Amino acid sequence: MDKNELMRRAIALSEESVKNGGGPFGAVIARNGAIIAEASNSVTTDHDPTAHAEVNAIRKAASRLDTFDLSGCEIYTSCEPCPMCLGAIYWAHLDRIYYANDRKDAARIGFDDDFIYREIALSPAERHKKMEILLPQEARRAFEMWQQSAEKTAY
Ligand SMILES: [Zn+2]
Repeated sequence: MDKNELMRRAIALSEESVKNGGGPFGAVIARNGAIIAEASNSVTTDHDPTAHAEVNAIRKAASRLDTFDLSGCEIYTSCEPCPMCLGAIYWAHLDRIYYANDRKDAARIGFDDDFIYREIALSPAERHKKMEILLPQEARRAFEMWQQSAEKTAY
């Protein structure tokens, strides 16, 4: 399938999602033009605030390919990824992102993507969500254990 066909599939998933009670988002992960996984947003239907289309598609693709590293794959998403999904896409090592609607379009229909992007640009002290450092010396032990472990799998 070419790029437009893959995006049309992501868009179709976003429309099906609305009809099925989910959010208006769909995503497809493909490798060499072949669909590896596809998903829509299931936040409200699964009671899972992290169940965005991109995260759902990444979970399916990784499970299907039996790996946490999706290098060589691309994601087609009906809307620009939110910060959580963008982070997940980096962690998954997807090669490239194609999107249709953008964060401003999402903001116009009541989604927080643009707000969260603006929060990230602020210093922690300026953000609406307060952050506080607790017990870093105690938490460091796990990092030292990881660093010294011979059995660790880097990702
Ligand atoms: Zn997202």
